[in-house]
Amino acid sequence: MSKIRFATVWLAGCSGCHMSFLDMDEWLIDLAAQVDVVYSPVGCDLKDYPDHVDVCLVEGAIANEENLELLRHVRARTKTLISFGDCAVTANVPAMRNMLGGAEPVLKRAYLELGDSTPQLPHEPGIVPELLDQVRPIHEWVPVDIFMPGCPPSADRIRATLEPLLRGEMPVMEGRDMIKFG
Ligand code: SF4
Repeated sequence: MSKIRFATVWLAGCSGCHMSFLDMDEWLIDLAAQVDVVYSPVGCDLKDYPDHVDVCLVEGAIANEENLELLRHVRARTKTLISFGDCAVTANVPAMRNMLGGAEPVLKRAYLELGDSTPQLPHEPGIVPELLDQVRPIHEWVPVDIFMPGCPPSADRIRATLEPLLRGEMPVMEGRDMIKFG
């Protein structure tokens, strides 16, 4: 039987969800025996997201054009996409900048008003991703198959979500242990 093609993606998040993933400790060895890790910032340093991915954990909100382009790429190539953590599910901490009224006032404050020397706005198309005006959760851009909240989701919750998927079943995301935010 062919192994599950497994991926994780890091968008606009602090990587704390990926740290929680690593907190699964020795179960990671069991997981590694059952999946092929085809893309991930932890343990698999590939530049291009491949075709035919079975399961992908997507951490982080959508804050810039690069996040959005990668998310659409991931969605088109992934069977089961998991919104991984509160930033992915609600936009959470990265969305705090939305209260400042959009990308332009944020950039002006950071790069012009607080610039110590030669203040200037960053503008290098193709090199520095343009900020989107608002930071939004991933399901506002693409369909999501499973929502796994938590800041970060605990290692136990991540494992309890992945184990049914490894058996070819959908996890039941109900109850405090599986869907409590924060
Ligand atoms: S949900 Fe929490 S731990 Fe995960 S990326 Fe966002 S801020 Fe970090």
